[in-house]
Formats: sequence, C-alpha cells, structure tokens
Amino acid sequence: MTVHKIGIIGLGKITMDQHVPVIAANPAFELVAASSQRGIEVEGARTFRTPAEMYTAMPELDAVAVCTPPQVRHAFAREALGVGKHVLLEKPPAATVSELDDLDAFADQEKRVLFTTWHSQYNAAVVHTRELLSRHKVKKMAVTWKEDVRHWHPGQKWIWAAGGFGVFDPGINALSIVTTILPDPIFVRSADLTFPSNCDAPIAASLTFGSNVPNSELSAEFDWRQTGPQTWDIEIETDEGTELKLSLGGSRLEVNGVLDVERPSAEYTDIYDRFAELLRERRSLVDGAPLRLVSDAFLVGRRLTTEPFHD
Ligand code: NAP
Repeated sequence: MTVHKIGIIGLGKITMDQHVPVIAANPAFELVAASSQRGIEVEGARTFRTPAEMYTAMPELDAVAVCTPPQVRHAFAREALGVGKHVLLEKPPAATVSELDDLDAFADQEKRVLFTTWHSQYNAAVVHTRELLSRHKVKKMAVTWKEDVRHWHPGQKWIWAAGGFGVFDPGINALSIVTTILPDPIFVRSADLTFPSNCDAPIAASLTFGSNVPNSELSAEFDWRQTGPQTWDIEIETDEGTELKLSLGGSRLEVNGVLDVERPSAEYTDIYDRFAELLRERRSLVDGAPLRLVSDAFLVGRRLTTEPFHD
C-alpha cells in the first residue's frame, strides 16, 4: 500500500480533535509535517512557521490538509497546488465561490487532487436518506440548526469577521446535507440575516428556498443563541406523504416516526478513507453546492441588526 506523506496547515481545534488522531489511525497516511503560525508541535511531525518553509525542508511531502479559517484557505491551497501537493480542504472550501472555482481549475492544470470535505455528508443516515429520496419529490423541508456559539466557538475572532461565515459556519453543514440528499436543486429565495451590531458576520439566519417542484415549502433556521439542548434537525415530507427526520447533525434518521438508521458518526475516518481513494485514482472531488447557497443567501439577504455580541 502507498503511504502518503501528509502535512497540516493550521493546528486549531478541528485539527487537534479530528485530523491528527484520524490520520494517525489510517495506514494510508503518515503525518510528517505541520505549518503553525503559533509554532504548535505535533508528536512525530516537524513543525514550521509557514507552509513555504515546510515545502522547502520536506520536498517528499505528497499532500496537505488546509485546516485554517476560510478567509486564508485559497492562498494556502493555491500555494500548495503550485508546488505539486495534493490538497484536502476543510469546510467551507474557500471564502468565495470564485476562489473555489480558481482552485478547481488550478488543481486540474497542475494535475493534482483537490478534495472539498463536507464532514456532515459522511454519516450513514445521510447516505441512506439520499437513497430513499432519489425516488421521490420533496414537498416540504424544514432545517433547524440552533446551537450555542459560546460553547462551540469560544474566542474564535475570525468567525465574526467578514468572510468568517458567522452562523453559516455550522449552517453550511446543514446545507451540505441538504444538497447531497435532495434529488432536485434548490434556490435561495429570501434570507433574513441578523448581525450583532459589533460583528461583520450573522448570529442568525432565516432562509426560504424555491425548487422546480411546484408548491414546495422549504426553509432553514440557523441560530447561534440557543442554550440548553442543541438542535441539528432536517425534517422532510415527500410528495407521497412520507416523513423523514434527520437529527443529531445527520447521524440519526426516522422514517414516519420509526427509527431507521442510527450510527455514531465516523465522519473524519471516512473523509481520510475517501482521500486515500481519490489519491489512488488521481481524481479530484470538488463540491461547491453548499457554498453557493450560502453565497446566494448573502446576495439576496436582508440585513437586520441585533444587540452586540461579547464572548
Ligand atoms: P481554530 O480553532 O480557530 O483554528 C484555526 C487555526 O488556523 C488557528 O488556530 C491557526 O493555527 C490557523 N490559522 C492560520 N491562519 C489563520 C488566520 N489568519 N486566522 C486565524 N487562524 C489562522 O478553528 P477551527 O475550529 O479548528 O476551524 C478551522 C476550520 O475547520 C473552519 O473552517 C471550520 O469551519 C472547520 N471546522 C471546524 C470544526 C470544529 O468543530 N471546530 C468542525 C469541522 C470543521 P496555527 O496557529 O497553528 O497556524
């Protein structure tokens, strides 16, 4: 088996929680290097302050995972592709649609693998829902993604800056499930985006969608102000009256009120298995659909202002 030497750019929360342990457990990869502006060390890997230093010192590196905030992802990914590395992108894959298009074209030109990971798609219940819905039209969909930003994103300043996505940072996970399970495309028709008066990214968003299915009722509610129990649900009704409820972020599916699939998520394990497969086949996997919906929400959205947010 080929063992790919991989490096990570950005040693923040998701890198430490998922990428480092999951790579260590996958025999197709060896984590040999890291680029950390703060100089964070990872056992068994060499740490550099910049990707450029990492590429110069370790030409044997095959691939990098870019796990920074989205505002700087395009520059890091382009630099990596330009020196011949394959690239795995954390979600969201770029700050804008045109940046992602550029990376897609550049990876193609450089004959390198580019992989946009959408971790919420890697759930057994999500995959099963896609199969079930492939034979149906969707009449109704209600996405409810409400969580406590202070619990999940303490101190993350970039998330409140322009291009940090705000509540769409988790919300885009819901949209990545929606775009993979729905058999027909959907379009953002309206969006109310609520910004704290001291932030450049929204704390809540309320979206309605249209589709090519007549009289469909499709909506999404994202809110970062929910304390107590957290809600990550997608409820769907098909044209034949079947009701599906995906809950717990896509790891549990009920059909007509009866439990159908519930499997603990192994999202990042599956992501790195898929990356190994893509590297074997020398094939990119670039999915911009969730990013396009968020971009469209900002295009058509109404801006509302609420009280300032303090961590
Ligand atoms: P984080 O804890 O803030 O870590 C991001 C890291 O990126 C920083 O610690 C820093 O590490 C590096 N970095 C490089 N350039 C930076 C810049 N200009 N500003 C700030 N940091 C910079 O964020 P995170 O939660 O790991 O999220 C990173 C990405 O993963 C986001 O796109 C997020 O949506 C995605 N994600 C997060 C989670 C989660 O549970 N947190 C889950 C899935 C996906 P160094 O100092 O080491 O360079």
